[in-house]
Amino acid sequence: MSFVITRLQEALRHGIITKTIGVRSFSRGSSLFNEEAKVKTNEPQIDPAKDRRNPIPPETSIRYLASDAYKTTYGTEPVWKPYRRNHKGGFAPRKTRKTCIRGGIVSTSSPCPICRDEYLVFDHRNTALLKQFISEYNGEIISYSTTGICQKQHKNLLIALHRAHDYGTITFDVPFREYNYSDWYKPEDLKQEN
Ligand SMILES: [Zn+2]
Repeated sequence: MSFVITRLQEALRHGIITKTIGVRSFSRGSSLFNEEAKVKTNEPQIDPAKDRRNPIPPETSIRYLASDAYKTTYGTEPVWKPYRRNHKGGFAPRKTRKTCIRGGIVSTSSPCPICRDEYLVFDHRNTALLKQFISEYNGEIISYSTTGICQKQHKNLLIALHRAHDYGTITFDVPFREYNYSDWYKPEDLKQEN
């Protein structure tokens, strides 16, 4: 910069330029040039289909599950039914992958049934989605080896189900238990009640 200033002072002395050009304009010009260079080289090309940096709110997900767009995509079957895991060899690994989304961007070519559709959000109010992950036979949570959802989404599912139980948005069966009341009461107490 000092070189530029001395050259300017020289130019002024020799009468080449009459009006002083501020040093600021030089520096500003160079910074603008650098910014342009940055935009050209360092701009990451993100596939909009894989961009998950703006998460969808649960309210939108609830409306999506009731919409015609959802019905035409999945029909009446659960969202994990048509999904097939992509793995090496004949046997699938014991656990599903840790996560499908890294740094807000889908980092795999075969994301799990929840990560591949950004409008599927686990929430305690989103009961239509949560019920698809509960067995209709025994009321247990269906294993990730069956559904194929990644470990991160499975954790989200467990949290949402716990919240659903707490808020009462999902009803669940309590195991039937027969009590032997003689363990708590003496036989004479029972007689008096009768
Ligand atoms: Zn996933």
